[in-house]
Amino acid sequence: DQLEQRLASFVSDNIPGVAALYFSTGYMANVGTITALAALDPSVEVFSEALNHASLIDGMRLARVKVNVYDHCDTTQLESMLGASSARVKLVVTDSVFSMDGDLAPLPNILQLCAKHDAWLLVDDAHGFGTLGDRGRGALEHFGLRSDRLIYIGTLGKAAGVGGAFVAAESSVIDWLVQRARSYVYSTASPPARAYALLESLNIIESADGKARRARLQYLIDLLNSELQLEHWTKLQSSTAIQPVMLGDNEQVTQVSAMLHDAGFWVPAIRPPTVPADTARLRITLSAAHSDEDVVALARTLNQIESTL
Ligand SMILES: *Cc1c(COP(=O)(O)O)cnc(C)c1O
Repeated sequence: DQLEQRLASFVSDNIPGVAALYFSTGYMANVGTITALAALDPSVEVFSEALNHASLIDGMRLARVKVNVYDHCDTTQLESMLGASSARVKLVVTDSVFSMDGDLAPLPNILQLCAKHDAWLLVDDAHGFGTLGDRGRGALEHFGLRSDRLIYIGTLGKAAGVGGAFVAAESSVIDWLVQRARSYVYSTASPPARAYALLESLNIIESADGKARRARLQYLIDLLNSELQLEHWTKLQSSTAIQPVMLGDNEQVTQVSAMLHDAGFWVPAIRPPTVPADTARLRITLSAAHSDEDVVALARTLNQIESTL
């Protein structure tokens, strides 16, 4: 209960009348929230961003709702889909930071469309919570959004370093989830020790040290980008910890990942079906705990590998 109150206070500037509910994993939070919202009304329709995380997609499948998929960050297409819908309950679902691309959803624009078309907006901020926003409160703080139609999901196994996730929304939505989210109701609650550890994570995120870590992460992102000098491969545009390098070819990306591993760098090779065909990539994930030397050496090693292949 203490943890949920603290988590709600993290987004209280962004969602009026907010309450929060803790789930054992982000996967369960997404599946439970979408299925419970789908049970609000038989006419529910979901509008889903093309690059959404698998756990959101599984929630939609389990909910057996009508799903309209809009292209990546294409708010024009989203608007025409919303305009064409006569559903009484509309739910737009998106990641904030795309987990394999590192870019940000145009949330201010999407929220405007939701207001215009009377839709809920569910935001999965797995990669924003703790790292985005001046106080580390995530994507809603980063964009300065405020609305009672926001349903916010922050996961706590990434920047928060422990595990689990929370859903934050206007308190009557949370009451509904307590009754109807089956992944919450039919699974044993997490042990209190986890809540205790998470309260400590939240203290760190809010502290001067947390702020310094976010500044350091941003500095390392800039350092990587200035040191990488790629000629054939492309570093995707990203201002977040996720910095992908697009190679395209599945075998080559596996080979380069292995070469980096031998040189002391752990950079996973991401291939289809995790990403669309012909978009295999290296997924560099930076952390405030990396040293300047780590990041410079990674960039130089990659520059060198590229020039020899
Ligand atoms: C990791 C992740 C999840 C799942 O969270 P878990 O706590 O690991 O189950 C959900 N959404 C996104 C975007 C993620 O990156």
